[in-house]
Amino acid sequence: MSKKIIITIDGWSSCGKSTLAKQLARELGYVYVDSGAMYRAITLYFLRNHIDWTEKKEVQQALKDINLEFVYNPSKNVSEIYLNDENVEYVIRDLVVAEKVSDIAAIKEVRDFAVAQQQKMGAKKGIVMDGRDIGTVVFPKAELKIFMTADNSIRVERRFRELYDKNPNVSIEEVKNNLEMRDYIDSHREVSPLRQAKDALVLDNTHLNEKEQFEKALNWVKIKIVEKNAG
Ligand code: C5P
Repeated sequence: MSKKIIITIDGWSSCGKSTLAKQLARELGYVYVDSGAMYRAITLYFLRNHIDWTEKKEVQQALKDINLEFVYNPSKNVSEIYLNDENVEYVIRDLVVAEKVSDIAAIKEVRDFAVAQQQKMGAKKGIVMDGRDIGTVVFPKAELKIFMTADNSIRVERRFRELYDKNPNVSIEEVKNNLEMRDYIDSHREVSPLRQAKDALVLDNTHLNEKEQFEKALNWVKIKIVEKNAG
């Protein structure tokens, strides 16, 4: 039987990381994990419960009360995130959560909590995980690391279209500001900042459609799987 690998996809906000990760997982029969959904769900919990996240003790206590799970939804052919048994897959995509998530994801205790669970999920390999620190911190020995990027204006437009479909009151300015703010905080924080891993392959999809980016990444995957099985 072919040996399984770990595929990490990191990069800037709204680069299409999750689209590619889902495509690869489907093709390979691997598990897909959206690590950003975990930080978003934790943020939702903090907001709903008025947690003062500048207080370490309060954060530690709150994390004890949080249970995160990914549950497969066969009708959509994707896994959805549950926060304490509630499906929060859709509510975590709101701008209200996006406004705060990078501040909360910068807290060491929050990262330790999420990373420990992410590493467990990858223990058996056969996983595609996307995020900001997956190739650098969560799985530094992953067989294939992809770093995604795309021009700013394209990323803003993509995210705007996604959010506009759900909420026509959203403005392109708001979306642009949010992406810029998150990218800044994510790449400047002290703990696990967004960085391109030294051994990552860069995928700039500014001029690629979904099919083209998938084919490019799948070629890399095939090479890594052959290497893994030869070694
Ligand atoms: O991937 P997504 O845009 O949903 O992630 C939301 C936020 O979660 C990011 O802007 C970042 O602050 C945080 N995040 C992180 N580390 C990850 C994944 C996401 O800090 N591995």
